[in-house]
Amino acid sequence: MSSRATAELAAADRRLLWHPFTQQRGWESDEPPVLIERAQGTTLYDTDGNAYIDGVSSLWCNVHGHRHPVIDAAVRAQLDRVAHSTMLGLSHPPAVQLAQRLLALAPEGLERVFYSDNGSTAVEVALKMAFQLCQHRGERARTGFIGLRNGYHGDTIGSVSVGAIDLFHTLYRPLLFERWAAEPGDAEDLEALLDEHGERVCAVVVEPLVQGAAGMLLQPAGYLRRVRELCDRHGVLLVCDEVATGFGRTGTMFACEQEGVSPDLLCVAKGLTGGYLPLAATLTTAEVYDGFLAEFHELRTFFHGHTYSGNPLACAAALATLEVFESERTLERLQPKIALLEQALGDLVAPLPAVAEVRQRGFMVGIELAGFAAEARIGHQVALAARRRGAIVRPLGDVIVLMAPLAIAEAELSRLVEITAAAIAEATAEPLAAAA
Ligand SMILES: *Cc1c(COP(=O)(O)O)cnc(C)c1O
Repeated sequence: MSSRATAELAAADRRLLWHPFTQQRGWESDEPPVLIERAQGTTLYDTDGNAYIDGVSSLWCNVHGHRHPVIDAAVRAQLDRVAHSTMLGLSHPPAVQLAQRLLALAPEGLERVFYSDNGSTAVEVALKMAFQLCQHRGERARTGFIGLRNGYHGDTIGSVSVGAIDLFHTLYRPLLFERWAAEPGDAEDLEALLDEHGERVCAVVVEPLVQGAAGMLLQPAGYLRRVRELCDRHGVLLVCDEVATGFGRTGTMFACEQEGVSPDLLCVAKGLTGGYLPLAATLTTAEVYDGFLAEFHELRTFFHGHTYSGNPLACAAALATLEVFESERTLERLQPKIALLEQALGDLVAPLPAVAEVRQRGFMVGIELAGFAAEARIGHQVALAARRRGAIVRPLGDVIVLMAPLAIAEAELSRLVEITAAAIAEATAEPLAAAA
């Protein structure tokens, strides 16, 4: 694209668009936006032809790389059949085939798939199912939820209600329903909450192993298993939100597996279609499902659905994504890359004076920078410096997140860490010198 055409589009973007999680005043006055025109593998190309490593998997969802031939072909083939048909009153082959495949991979005990179209709705569905099940069971007092402090489950009102990131959520408190927040990683705290309020709780909602949007906060080994035990003891459902952790991101297909835990409700989205198309699923057990079976007049129907729930193109992309996990032995080939990542972070990033902590679980990485004023927007400065050096990273406040596609080549992964280290050094040099 000509630089004139690019400049015109960039100007129109600033005039017409409103970007997510973005202070538009800064967006309008910072350097002009980068427009991504195409991608190949794990590289993004902008309209000026500049190349960038996709260091955050296009916001945590790309898995096997962009323009993967198998996924591309599956979407094209589905396009020749039908792009969209509803799941309300009808079904279609890719929805059924994907459910079979998903359930074969999911933790034991999960036997039903309810589709929606993004991570927030997958959580909304789980919350409403849990609540409604308790009502059906006559446990009318169980109207509340327990989430974890710093939890993030999406941006719709229900998922915000169970979330607990002050910066994103506090303002909306008057709109939200009742929920208690337990200290993540501290089973005793959850136990105390359940002892006090357990009879009013229908579900505990957690991001297993890693709280992503909180800045990649890690939970100690054994915690998730304790959460499962406490839920069982109090007759409370466990909702695991694997929207971020699912599909290999922590090193196993699902994070729950690492603790041998089966939740009552499992939410997946982001990586489900390999980062191609919006699709989500809420998986649940026969026990939950059976609680909704009744004569129509008993009004136990789950009255919930979205226009694009289980969209055929998205299901075709998801099916192909799961096939590629097998044909390319993605999880097996990921293990040495996880080790390489750990080594490179230890060598290049951890020793930097601005770095307070490096957190890693599988392919999820948070690099915490400390000692900077909020106005310095140091995370943002690091992301800009990385971009000039050829990598796209997106910070969460002062935490630099690395979340490369699982398919990234080892050389690219090393380069991503090198660029990140150089960007941190560059962006923090001046503020550190000024503070000294
Ligand atoms: C991203 C995310 C969501 C929300 O997913 P969207 O598709 O953005 O609505 C929910 N839960 C977790 C853990 C996430 O990381």
